[in-house]
Amino acid sequence: MSTPEHALSIPDLIAKKRDGLELSPNEIQQFIAGLSNGDVQDCHVGAMLMAIYIQGMTEREICSMTMSMRDSGERLSWPNYRGIVVDKHSTGGIGDKISIPLAPALAACQMKVPMMSGRGLGITGGTLDKLESIPGYQTQLTDEQIVQLISNVGCGIFSQSVKLNPADRYLYSIRDVTATVPSNALIVSSILSKKAIEDLDGLVLDIKYGSSAFMKTPENAEVLANWLFKVSELLGMKTCCYITEMNNPIGYCIGNALEIQESLDLMKYKQGHSADLEDLICEQGGRLLLLTNKAQTIEQGREMIRDTFKNGSALQKFHDMIIGQGVSPSIAAQLISNDEKAVQSILKLSDVTHQAISTQKGYVQSIASFNLGTIVQRLGGGRLKSTDKLDFSVGIRLLKHVGDSVQENEPWAILYAPHDASKRYPSFLDDLNSSLVVSLTPVQPLQRIYKILT
Ligand code: URA
Repeated sequence: MSTPEHALSIPDLIAKKRDGLELSPNEIQQFIAGLSNGDVQDCHVGAMLMAIYIQGMTEREICSMTMSMRDSGERLSWPNYRGIVVDKHSTGGIGDKISIPLAPALAACQMKVPMMSGRGLGITGGTLDKLESIPGYQTQLTDEQIVQLISNVGCGIFSQSVKLNPADRYLYSIRDVTATVPSNALIVSSILSKKAIEDLDGLVLDIKYGSSAFMKTPENAEVLANWLFKVSELLGMKTCCYITEMNNPIGYCIGNALEIQESLDLMKYKQGHSADLEDLICEQGGRLLLLTNKAQTIEQGREMIRDTFKNGSALQKFHDMIIGQGVSPSIAAQLISNDEKAVQSILKLSDVTHQAISTQKGYVQSIASFNLGTIVQRLGGGRLKSTDKLDFSVGIRLLKHVGDSVQENEPWAILYAPHDASKRYPSFLDDLNSSLVVSLTPVQPLQRIYKILT
């Protein structure tokens, strides 16, 4: 047994937190170390997470938790790339695929982006799950593979591993299935422990608020943003926090394979790609260029990112990145081609489709992202148990955005469903149809950004 003589047992630590007392840095370190040395079992983890969820954590506890998680494995370092190593992370949303075109766009601006991402949590999709809908894509990389990818391509999107932040890997999977996700302490330590491993020069955090985000109101999101800002500062990371709206989905697509297709469409700068998605990526990427003095103004930064989509350099970086992460050159070449049939056949979207039809004429006031995220999750695109295998082919393609006009009987969304959809989620069609809110009077396009903390 590794527990020192005077230390509390693991059940004692859980009881201390359950009763609202502060855990010391050593006690937190003991618990996190126990995740890998065998002292802590799944049932301990579930109980401790619920105690933290209910009681919260003090600033000292959150900092200790973040640092213990960061130190649960190895750390990356970039002595040759000082000043240009950046990353972005979000608290998770519906249709939030921002990281997927952003990492290659930044690499095309000569930045280095070692992006350690997460899987889906609750109804919010995960960047890694989306990327795994590309056949062959490997999310678990060795340190050597990451170093090579960052040196050769400039970006990589990968997961925690047994060597890199194993504590977050373990806690994250249990939080997802124990109703303990929306806790400030757990979100801050999860996100910042991953980012602190990356040895960054600049970090953008996107904190979502709304019906489908963990934080339901902008005020609650701001509390979380302040925590993230404070702890990242204590860890020495130059950070900017965005607080953004998450009542309506980002872009037109929701679901793993569909979101890869939408990301490719943006990087190909195809006509009809989502301006909402493009603008958010240009804003956050531009901010990282400003934070690291690669752009003199935010406007210049945004245009530098936009240019990488217009001139195809982000698409080329994406191609090189996915090959570096295990995808065959022939699949990568087809994905970046304009052969839509080839892209669709690689991404294997479901061929069972249902249309959602508007019952009114008017203007789109809102599209309930919570419903859409729930439908995709329940039809197999997200997990209900940590062992669930995802069905990448499930998703929803919106045909309208907030502010668009819509006619009575006009389709506004297409659902790509599994064959046994009604068995998995009997009310899926009713829930889909009731997700559109139409106004009789014109509606302004969505304002995504509520606040920026710099
Ligand atoms: N993203 C993470 O990595 N962790 C969280 O807890 C939430 C979003």
